[in-house]
Amino acid sequence: MQKQEILKKYFGYKDFRPGQELLIDSLLAGRDVLGIMPTGAGKSICYQVPALLLPGITVVVSPLISLMKDQVQALNQAGVHAAYINSSLTEGQIRKAMEYAATGRYKIIYVAPERLETWEFTCFARQARISMVAVDEAHCISQWGQDFRPSYLKIVSFVKKLAPRPVIGAFTATATSQVKDDIIAVLGLGNPQLLISGFDRRNLFFGVETPKSKLSYVQQYIESHPGDSGIIYCATRKNVEKVHEALLARGIAAARYHAGLTAQERSENQEDFIYDRKPVIVATNAFGMGIDKSNVRYVLHFNMPQSMENYYQEAGRAGRDGAASECIMLYSGQDVMVNQYLLDNKAPNEELGPEENALVRERDSQRLQSMVGYARSTNCLRKYILEYFGEYGLQRCENCSVCRGEYEEQDCTEQARQVVTCILELRQRYGVNVVAGTLHGDKRSKLLALGADRCSTYGVLQALSEDRIKRIIRELEEREYLESTPDKYAVLKVCARAQDLLEGSDSLILRFAREEEGAAARTRKARKSDVLNSRGLELFDVLKKLRMELAREGGVPPYMVFSDKTLTDMCIRLPFDKGEMLQVAGVGEKKYERYGQPFLEAVREFTRGRKEKTSFGEQGMDRFC
Ligand code: ADP
Repeated sequence: MQKQEILKKYFGYKDFRPGQELLIDSLLAGRDVLGIMPTGAGKSICYQVPALLLPGITVVVSPLISLMKDQVQALNQAGVHAAYINSSLTEGQIRKAMEYAATGRYKIIYVAPERLETWEFTCFARQARISMVAVDEAHCISQWGQDFRPSYLKIVSFVKKLAPRPVIGAFTATATSQVKDDIIAVLGLGNPQLLISGFDRRNLFFGVETPKSKLSYVQQYIESHPGDSGIIYCATRKNVEKVHEALLARGIAAARYHAGLTAQERSENQEDFIYDRKPVIVATNAFGMGIDKSNVRYVLHFNMPQSMENYYQEAGRAGRDGAASECIMLYSGQDVMVNQYLLDNKAPNEELGPEENALVRERDSQRLQSMVGYARSTNCLRKYILEYFGEYGLQRCENCSVCRGEYEEQDCTEQARQVVTCILELRQRYGVNVVAGTLHGDKRSKLLALGADRCSTYGVLQALSEDRIKRIIRELEEREYLESTPDKYAVLKVCARAQDLLEGSDSLILRFAREEEGAAARTRKARKSDVLNSRGLELFDVLKKLRMELAREGGVPPYMVFSDKTLTDMCIRLPFDKGEMLQVAGVGEKKYERYGQPFLEAVREFTRGRKEKTSFGEQGMDRFC
């Protein structure tokens, strides 16, 4: 069988994505490869397709137990015999799996690196014919990387024991040039075919919002994306609890995840999310490693993370299936202060000396500054991300909140001067409520009692809402023109830098959402609905229900039956027979055998056998991806 046929038959795709073919051809020709490709780019296909064409077994080394389970389940769904061996199995199960493996029952075996040196695995490897070793998350082998795992070094001795030496494929989503060189050297890759594909994830929309109330934004967002699967990341456990509770109170089926829960609770909640029993999960960054759920349609950040690295990794969990998805960060000046506080109070690493620790702190602080730069960027957000990761050239992406013109910039220098003057007039003795009230010209008795109406700035910003005035105050704090005392009743003080504002050498340009409720209104328009018309969306819901039923029967997560993208393509193509169904992206022979019939029937019944218009325009699917 040709690689193209394998791709269609088992995975349901017609074409390889850029780069996949190069790596597959190299592996098949016996040349080692190193693929550095972002999450969702399709690394697995690069070793799974050759695994099915090579004569022997492929051993995939992966550090993530949940990912192994997921991948093996997906492969078996697609009709490929695969198994995994890791500490989540009992000794008995492991023995059984090894027995089956020895008889050649599996084409692909996933193992944790620790397993490679065990007696059972060594025995098996000696007898079996291992054609390829694929190393997933290959950056874990490098001591320079963030995620160095000493157990990865076992791969080297394991491969050395094998004769003839199998071809090696190494894959990772993150590797600086130092880490890249390390992977090649330590793994002993011989003249490897290197592929470094871009970091851009075109199907992801990036947005930054500064809503008045983050909680109501999140509630509205979820309610305007009913049934869609999404992750809400919060910086702290406390926030997870707060947001989770608020969502439950609104009747939203949400799960929660953080390190304070028991292991059992965490795993149950994770499963509820993966199996679409609960479409939304509210979590700290403890959630996500090794989660392969492909139909996550949005990732909202309730708080700004500490670095772009963290942000891109977490946001990148949206849209792994390649369908349009949204990554929106909710930002407030307070996030900066909280993060700065956390960094300032981070315990020093005991293994490092004082100088090194100081260096770490400095780097952390620079990372935070870059993150803030993203939050405030008035240029294309995607350009910002890509440049951060070293890719230059993009000017505008037309798929982020800045390019789509959802913000407007305003010169707030004059108002900022009034704020500073007002605080000075109030002799730096009051907090944000009194200052904003004074500038707004409130007639509250408390203000009048303290003589606010005698200030020259009383009422000068009457034309602005108090919320807008408070936002300006927060921004001034964040930019260190003002500071708050750390007391219970925080008092605003003017910093030395404010002089530059008053004298005119500094200006304050701020970005505001075009309309106060613009963001929620935009997000009310689900991206699927950019492609499907109302009939198409109706059919999508029918197919989604069917998918849920079949997934329940089979005990697999719904996205493993078919991805959202596949269902959307079905709604556009309206397949009435097997031939047409096999044209749908993501439907291969095996999947057709397993699930094709009920979906065909559902489409026929819904349309009463007539092709009808279910999408907008000609491009259909192209606009969705
Ligand atoms: P990675 O490991 O790089 O994060 P995956 O291997 O999980 O990415 O692939 C991400 C998604 O892309 C999966 O849903 C996969 O089925 C899909 N995919 C991979 N290759 C192709 C292709 N050639 N055409 C269409 N979809 C693909």
